[in-house]
Amino acid sequence: MTAKGAGLKYKRLLLKLSGEALMGKNGYGIDVTVVDRLAGEIAEGIAAGCEIAVVVGGGNIFRGLAGAAKGMDRATADYMGMLATVMNALALQNALERAKTPARVLSAIPMPTVCESYVRPKALTHIERGNVVIFAAGTGNPFFTTDTAATLRAIEMDCQAVAKGTQVDGVYDSDPHKNPDAKRFDQLSYSEVLSRNLKVMDGAAIALARDNRLPVIVFSIEEAGSLLKVLQGEGRATIID
Ligand code: UDP
Repeated sequence: MTAKGAGLKYKRLLLKLSGEALMGKNGYGIDVTVVDRLAGEIAEGIAAGCEIAVVVGGGNIFRGLAGAAKGMDRATADYMGMLATVMNALALQNALERAKTPARVLSAIPMPTVCESYVRPKALTHIERGNVVIFAAGTGNPFFTTDTAATLRAIEMDCQAVAKGTQVDGVYDSDPHKNPDAKRFDQLSYSEVLSRNLKVMDGAAIALARDNRLPVIVFSIEEAGSLLKVLQGEGRATIID
């Protein structure tokens, strides 16, 4: 019998999906076809024997900073942003179940009639049993981001890396969609990301990863099969360690 996860470089991974990854070409909200495709990528990783946890963002629905810029109180706006991540988490859970992959949503803000609350030992048990655990509501605190939540949960869950699925195949020194001469990196150190102010994750998330020696993988989730390649230690990605 082949051992669980044979051939995989990462046996337990935290996948960070931004809210924008769920909205497809609509420019707002949730595109169910896109969510189904993402669920298929995750299901493939689970079938290969990896344990996968997910943190979803909420930027496709609401961002605290955008609310604050229009005059809202920042903390209230951030709570709205966290609630947006719960909607995305439920959509992803539903898509995973359609893909015959058991998934649980655990929210950092308790809402017992909607989903389970985040309790670390419970989350670990779900992961060990082969469920995809989707962490919703970020860290549960305003003034943070879901990138920081992803790093935090990856460390708490003892994941071997946090993988950020984006629309490009790694980290560039400027936006490759706007600058055709943008330089791409295969490898970076945490301090280079911070000192060059590279737009990967916010500074708090990178500092937390650095202090806990958690590798950060940035890859394109747009290509079919890309998550499995990351799990196998292959494919195009930028590794920050
Ligand atoms: N948010 C928060 N605390 C957290 C995580 C998220 O207050 O721990 C709020 C914040 O307002 C943020 C919004 O939720 O703008 C959506 O999260 P994020 O911007 O990280 O989503 P993404 O850019 O990944 O879609």
